[in-house]
Amino acid sequence: MSPACPVVTINHRGAARLRGGHLWVYRSGLVPQAEAPAGSLVHVRDERGRALGSALYSSASQIAVRLLTLDVIDEEKLPDLLRARIIAAAQFRQRVVRDSDSCRVIFSEADLLPGLIVDKYNDVLVMQALTQAFDRDDIRGVVLEALGVHFPGESIFERVDPHIRELEQLPSRKSQLVRGEQTSTIFTLNGVRFHFDALGGQKTGAFLDQRENYAAAARYAHGVALDGFTYQGGFALHLARVCQSVTAVDSSRPALEVAEQNEQLNRDRHRCGEIEWIEANAFDLLKDYATAERSYDTIVLDPPAFAKSKRALPTALRGYKELNLRALKMLRPGGVLVTCSCSFHVGEPDFLQMLESAAADGGKRLRLLEIRSQAQDHPVLLGVPETGYLKCVVAQVLA
Ligand code: SAH
Repeated sequence: MSPACPVVTINHRGAARLRGGHLWVYRSGLVPQAEAPAGSLVHVRDERGRALGSALYSSASQIAVRLLTLDVIDEEKLPDLLRARIIAAAQFRQRVVRDSDSCRVIFSEADLLPGLIVDKYNDVLVMQALTQAFDRDDIRGVVLEALGVHFPGESIFERVDPHIRELEQLPSRKSQLVRGEQTSTIFTLNGVRFHFDALGGQKTGAFLDQRENYAAAARYAHGVALDGFTYQGGFALHLARVCQSVTAVDSSRPALEVAEQNEQLNRDRHRCGEIEWIEANAFDLLKDYATAERSYDTIVLDPPAFAKSKRALPTALRGYKELNLRALKMLRPGGVLVTCSCSFHVGEPDFLQMLESAAADGGKRLRLLEIRSQAQDHPVLLGVPETGYLKCVVAQVLA
């Protein structure tokens, strides 16, 4: 017999949150004396003693409880539950990911594995344990074993975020290989090839959540293109297949160095328009180019998150508007704008409103072609709005 599962009692607010479909209870949603061992499986009850399910507990994070299941289960059932969820997550990706050897295999809450992220870059898996529970040796063992069933040949690299370990009050740990020998590889999204290096001087990786948006952008892109925040060339390399030329901008030199290497990887394999990589502040560059009356047929804007908190929303929307207005000014009639926001706090209605207002100020008629979000391997769990964060709008300037 394993010891009895600790019970965590949550207050009315916490219970309402879980009953509403969320998986998190903040510390303020617990009754005052509620506590449990770090990283333990707990039974969650409301103040009247009614069972709400079983959860993983964190003694340090503001998110004290992450619900795992509505059932009341004990530790001995935990490995089977985790295994089944990991296998289901991997099988789901097998069904929805096309023309690519890379994707997010496990997306935390959206796979009902709150606190675990696993990305696949061809033959290298990158695992991130974000909570005390997923840092437990026994749970890590179960995760590695289950990943091994589905991905027997892949190396597994554990990426550690020191800030998160600090928040979870976990001892520091190094990012390192936990299985296999490979830390770098070449991976493919929609037939476009990229370098991945978990260890190298410049860490590489990709915005896998944009995978389907790259393909969508390439469906509409044409002529002379500009990619404002290119990072390692995600959109630019896709655009280069269909556009005459691409100007790709980023403020990070290391990111552009990898982007140029990625360009070389694809040069001999496909028709490829000219790509010019420019290290610059995209805000300044767009302003200068707009003043110089440059014009484009396609512009992609995928800036970093402007709104890190709800409070920052008005400022963020002003930033998005400024950027989009500059881009719209330079788009020729028939031109295509692909504009993204990865800020969770900027909702889709806010984002569309911003775009409408930028078009009005710029004197342009803008037609929506697609309102998109994250790739399907980053699904959104209803009830947990934080799982849906990416907006990607494809729009066309009418003459
Ligand atoms: N579109 C990319 C991801 C962009 S992430 C892809 O699909 O892979 C955001 C990028 O914006 C980062 O590479 C960051 O270096 C860059 N960046 C941040 N501020 C910037 C600025 N003011 N001007 C240009 N690039 C900037």
